[in-house]
Amino acid sequence: MPFTKYSDEVKEGDLVLAWMTRSNIKPMFIKRGEQFNTRYGVFTHEKLIGRKYGDQVPSTHGNGFIYLIHPTPELWSLSLPHRTQIVYTPDASYIVQRLKIRPGSKVLEAGTGSGSFTHALARTVGSKGHLYTYEYHEPRFIDARVEIETHKLNNVVTITHRDVCNEGFDIENAKIEASAIFLDLPSPWSAIPHISRVVASNRIVNICCFSPCIEQVAKTIEALKANGWKNIEMVEINARKHESRQEMVRDVDDAIGRLRDVKKRRTDGLNKRNNRIESETEGSSTEKRQLEDIDSGNDSTAPNAPKVGGTKGFNPFGKGTRIKQGDEKFKWRNVSRAETEYKSHTSYLTFATLPPPIPANILNEDGTVRGCM
Ligand code: SAM
Repeated sequence: MPFTKYSDEVKEGDLVLAWMTRSNIKPMFIKRGEQFNTRYGVFTHEKLIGRKYGDQVPSTHGNGFIYLIHPTPELWSLSLPHRTQIVYTPDASYIVQRLKIRPGSKVLEAGTGSGSFTHALARTVGSKGHLYTYEYHEPRFIDARVEIETHKLNNVVTITHRDVCNEGFDIENAKIEASAIFLDLPSPWSAIPHISRVVASNRIVNICCFSPCIEQVAKTIEALKANGWKNIEMVEINARKHESRQEMVRDVDDAIGRLRDVKKRRTDGLNKRNNRIESETEGSSTEKRQLEDIDSGNDSTAPNAPKVGGTKGFNPFGKGTRIKQGDEKFKWRNVSRAETEYKSHTSYLTFATLPPPIPANILNEDGTVRGCM
């Protein structure tokens, strides 16, 4: 199972994630005779077989490269074909721990959508647990079923084509007994009354409803209360990634030196400078373009990501010389900056718990618990 077990070497039939830049990761199934075409070059699958995961591989034609990355649910969320809005890792990780999902857990999910969260849940419950996921949109259901099969998750995940709001979650001949429920539906309040039939009766059950607007949250809370759910709480995840780095401390002399350098360059002539920069940049134009994309021109996930080690921007004396971050010849101060565009909040998370029913033999006739005032 590629998402639940790691292997070192790329084999025929593997699902491999081809990492080109931080915002450009593409999945591919390795098959002899096929090739992977990118703007950075062509990669024949034949040459990828036997390589180690993590390797940087040069293209067969063209002069770009890819990294061969072993799939994980987190990277799958960043590379999957979108059929719907999806749950991203900052929400997914929080939901999994709040719902107390662990290896061996039985979990209900509706709707499956693009299967982003399905992969994270399947990896967590593992082969000793089970995930029951439901999708009512037929083309999405078919695509998700194919993915579950090709990703070898079918012994952990059961996908059902169903409108859970009208037909509920029961599956013939299956004892679901879920301890965690995740609803990412436009109207979770219609599905909530059907849940009690398929949950574990001997333990506390946890639910999370994922809704983009507060009116939906209000309706969900009403339905949870009406159906006996307790400890209702709404949470919003607002993840930010902070990058820390060193910034060069520049003084007036540095600024004057820089201005002199700019003036000198002007007089030296544009052509001479271009030729020199060209000869300093090793590699072909394709490789240069990819390196530029990675350095962030084209990397939409991190428009403000700080440039580290060896970037030209750190040089106070002009563009010609590369200076390594932290170079002891210069003064540095530590700074940190938050990435502005980080894929995170998409919805409000409403959590609640359902206590197990109290056994009749410890109840008084009036329904109060024996021995309690
Ligand atoms: N959580 C998913 C992911 O991470 O990829 C995305 C779910 S998407 C936002 C919501 C999905 O719920 C859609 O695919 C939609 O077709 C499905 N859906 C909506 N109402 C449904 C219902 N009553 N029963 C089953 N599926 C439903």
